[in-house]
Amino acid sequence: MSENPVSAPELPSYPCDGFALYGANGPFSDRSVVAMLVNGQQKDLAALVNEDDDVQPITIESPEGLAILRHSTAHVLAQAVQRIKPQANLGIGPPITDGFYYDFGVDTPFTPEDVKAISKEMQRIQREGQRFVRRAVTDEEARAELADEPFKLELIGLKGPGPSTGSGTAAATSAAHKVEGASVEVGEGELTIYDNVAKDGEVVWKDLCRGPHLPNTRMIGNGWDLTRIAAAYWRGSEKNPQLQRIYGTAWPSKDELRAYQQRLEEAAKRDHRRLGKELDLFSFPDEIGSGLSVWHPRGGIIRGEMEQHARRRHIAAGYNYVYTPHISKEDLFLTSNHLVTYRDGMFPPIRMDEERDEDGHITKQGQDYYLKPMNCPMHILIYKERARSYRDLPLRLAENGTVYRNELSGALHGLTRVRGFTQDDSHLFVTPDQLETEVAKVLEFILSMLRDFGLTDFELELSMKDDEKEKWIGSDEFWESSTDALRRVALASGLKLTEVPGEAAFYGPKIDLKTTDAIGRVWQLSTVQVDPNLPERFDLEFTDRDGQKKRPIMIHRALFGSIERFFAILLEHYAGDFPLWLSPVQVVGIPVADTFADYLDDAVTALREAGVRAEVDHSDERMQKKIRNHTTGKIPLILIAGEQDRAAGTVSFRFRDGTQENGVPLAEAVERVRRAIESHALIQTAGDLA
Ligand SMILES: [Zn+2]
Ligand SMILES: [Zn+2]
Repeated sequence: MSENPVSAPELPSYPCDGFALYGANGPFSDRSVVAMLVNGQQKDLAALVNEDDDVQPITIESPEGLAILRHSTAHVLAQAVQRIKPQANLGIGPPITDGFYYDFGVDTPFTPEDVKAISKEMQRIQREGQRFVRRAVTDEEARAELADEPFKLELIGLKGPGPSTGSGTAAATSAAHKVEGASVEVGEGELTIYDNVAKDGEVVWKDLCRGPHLPNTRMIGNGWDLTRIAAAYWRGSEKNPQLQRIYGTAWPSKDELRAYQQRLEEAAKRDHRRLGKELDLFSFPDEIGSGLSVWHPRGGIIRGEMEQHARRRHIAAGYNYVYTPHISKEDLFLTSNHLVTYRDGMFPPIRMDEERDEDGHITKQGQDYYLKPMNCPMHILIYKERARSYRDLPLRLAENGTVYRNELSGALHGLTRVRGFTQDDSHLFVTPDQLETEVAKVLEFILSMLRDFGLTDFELELSMKDDEKEKWIGSDEFWESSTDALRRVALASGLKLTEVPGEAAFYGPKIDLKTTDAIGRVWQLSTVQVDPNLPERFDLEFTDRDGQKKRPIMIHRALFGSIERFFAILLEHYAGDFPLWLSPVQVVGIPVADTFADYLDDAVTALREAGVRAEVDHSDERMQKKIRNHTTGKIPLILIAGEQDRAAGTVSFRFRDGTQENGVPLAEAVERVRRAIESHALIQTAGDLA
């Protein structure tokens, strides 16, 4: 046992099960424990452990515990479906982020009425307090017992060799989307069936599964809900039969379920795809193709402000802007190795310059061109164009480089997952001595720039190599010194740092920066990647002080990551209420009556001359209707003027939250708006416009 039993009651006699340890009378009694980790492997509480086993409790609130709760709920869902539709065939039912699903082979898709009935039946199964009981079986036994379940039979044939290294639920949590959850059913070790055993001892249902599960159906509690139905191909392939999928969510308590549902509602309100349409910012015309965006004038203004600000700051920090084409001959990506390591992510080639005679015989060989998935190789060619000396380094090349990636159409999502996007990409070429100083500068620059956009909550992740020998290239000395350098830089930032062994690229360590948005969602943004590999592949050199030719190190650095995605994150973070400097229209003038329109025109002209994006609403709508329209349109400042203002040479501000500030002298109003733009202020209420 790894726990310290000092103040605990007497230890049970071994071997014993988890109930003897964590149950009401156990020495480590804890009602939140739902399973255990035995020598690193997830087990049911009913499993037997020995005194020399390393046993750790899995509580329902832990990521592993939540996955077990969610997966157990999926079992209850499947049992309920088969009670109502006995002919339904079982697919798979893994836990996923925040919930679970189960796939069924049924003749007709589920209706909302079906889902209601299934939900009722699930509650009945919970009340029955069925136990989940594990039973190891041979392939033959499993085949015989599951003879009526064609999909399960197929899974038995898929079972991999070798000992199981992780549990079904844990492995499926991370890999559910990739492998379609098959690993939750059959592990790599022995085959197991879980029986659902009623109070009277009768086996009322069973499923092929590697477990673990909650001890019984009652423990699922009332923090779950069925959320949606969808069609899904068996094992993710359209060559296979189509199944019907029911999604659900499950939490340890009803309160947590409610909180989750509220988070979803809030996220839906902020969804950048929805706001993008409502605010007329961008779109994805079908005629152009999936995952390729066009930017409307208003979206273009915001993006332009973002890019111009970033550009000014990059130049001030010693970066040089370059431009490179969108397309290149095959050889470049062979040298960079992208055509080997990244081929699946690239668009198929375009054959060029091929010539044929009248009979169709090739008379001149063509060559393949590729749309670029990365900018690095082209920046490297700029470095290589002339001999470099240590005096040229660090050389910091920056480009808003548009790249194209062959994302699956099903994976595309608004501006955050697209097929064409623009990276604010930089490549820094440094001497080995300069690495640490330059990484420190880069990180400081990134943080300062993201703060300019109003983000404040950051944490860092250091991706390192681990002990696996074949995975990594380069010397141990290089890995150690570069990883240490990155760690020192990260720690000096004072931000929370998580070290993740084994997550580095095969050639070097990196720092990832994550930010938490206004509703608590974590987004991965910037990356600082150390790379000695591409300089090696492209044979880059510089002449050092001692006259020797040496190899520079590259730092790949994307700050926003993708400009499109960063824009989407900001749009959702602010729910469309952008800070003044980013707002497409900063001030809208609304005359109290037509007779004051001329006066407001003059005020707006004064604002425009000061560089403010301002306009007057001359439409025929009534004043209140205009105010409503522009408030929905997320205009930060509405300028109102009536008789009093005209007589006094003043204007009145109305803010997003409905508050107002009246009688501000025009010159002062212009100056305050100008200052708020300059300081990147977020103007929501009277008082923000100081
Ligand atoms: Zn299971
Ligand atoms: Zn790069």
